[in-house]
Amino acid sequence: MSRLSGPLQQAIETIDGAAMLAQVERWARINSGTSNLEGLARMAEELSEAFSTLPGTITLEEPAPVTAVDASGKETAVQSGKHVVLRVRPDAERRFILTGHMDTVFPADHPFQELTWLDEHTLNGPGTADMKGGLAIILASLTALEQIEAWQQVGYDVLINADEETGSLSSAPLIERLAAGKYAALTFEPAATPEGTLAHARGGSGNYSLTVTGKSAHAGRNPHEGRNAIVAASTLAVRLKELQRDDISVNPAKIDGGAANNVVPDHAVLRFNIRPKEPAAAERFEAEMHALIGEVKQAQEVDITIHGGISRPPKPVDRKAQALFDLVRECGAELGQEIDWKSTGGVCDGNNIAATGVPVVDTMGVRGGKIHSPDEFMIVPSLAERAALAAMVLHRLATENLL
Ligand SMILES: [Zn+2]
Repeated sequence: MSRLSGPLQQAIETIDGAAMLAQVERWARINSGTSNLEGLARMAEELSEAFSTLPGTITLEEPAPVTAVDASGKETAVQSGKHVVLRVRPDAERRFILTGHMDTVFPADHPFQELTWLDEHTLNGPGTADMKGGLAIILASLTALEQIEAWQQVGYDVLINADEETGSLSSAPLIERLAAGKYAALTFEPAATPEGTLAHARGGSGNYSLTVTGKSAHAGRNPHEGRNAIVAASTLAVRLKELQRDDISVNPAKIDGGAANNVVPDHAVLRFNIRPKEPAAAERFEAEMHALIGEVKQAQEVDITIHGGISRPPKPVDRKAQALFDLVRECGAELGQEIDWKSTGGVCDGNNIAATGVPVVDTMGVRGGKIHSPDEFMIVPSLAERAALAAMVLHRLATENLL
């Protein structure tokens, strides 16, 4: 028997793919690179207006303070855009969280700003797949669901952040707060393949800057009095790389600093990224890193300060999350969509949500591809297709005890 009950079937039939496309075209023409605060403010305004057709209240949330270390080792503030939050029926017993991001990887001065049709079903443009298409899907699926009486028993939050592409550092506390206590989460990143494959387990990611301060001296006259920061940073790079294991990769990426050839350099900044597959690997690495830093500090008589840490915890798939994947596949089958999944090394807000213990499927957005490149494309029919899928998944989560 089909689970497409009368009211759900009717609601899904109201999903208007052409209207969704018009929305994506409009939003994709607004540059919203993560550093373009003006463009992000415009997007926040557009989204607030578009989502105001749903019940509930919309707020613009201030970004949490974020700092970065510059090449001189100085900690400076990083500006972020405001995040859009819609809260609907916050007193409902069963509540969901739907998330997406409004920022893109293309800054205001990037050459890729235009929309181009590749064929009648394929639109090339910045943020079409990643993920303004996904934002249109969130709105369309919820608009459809709001027509169904049974849906009105549940509540939900929609979070659209402005800094996902740089690691959600200014929205991570908000994600954690909003995800807490939710029954399930859906995040609308584009599918992992143009066929619609979902991203299953994900590793985590952490970024670190180690600022090394030594002591300068003349390279010929009194080199023994110097403490070489470049040597210490290089030692750290080599030894950190040796901490790589099967369950964690370590990538020393950059060393800033140094001095003239006849000077013992007293300053260096080493940057590196780690990709732990499991939370335990991340913890073990932190302990080993601290021990190593202590050792190098002592042996080379330099000072070392640490900035950064794990920004995306690993996202293993637990029993509840697997049940959610199974549900998405089942709903896809009902709708004539074949849904598959695979693990990926990529990270997204789904990592942060999973860390709160809430089951999440984080690639409910459009089918498309070549994201983060000027060849980014969205397969247009997937807009209505995925909106129907999300609506059906949420409807079943609202009306059955599946997790
Ligand atoms: Zn994205």
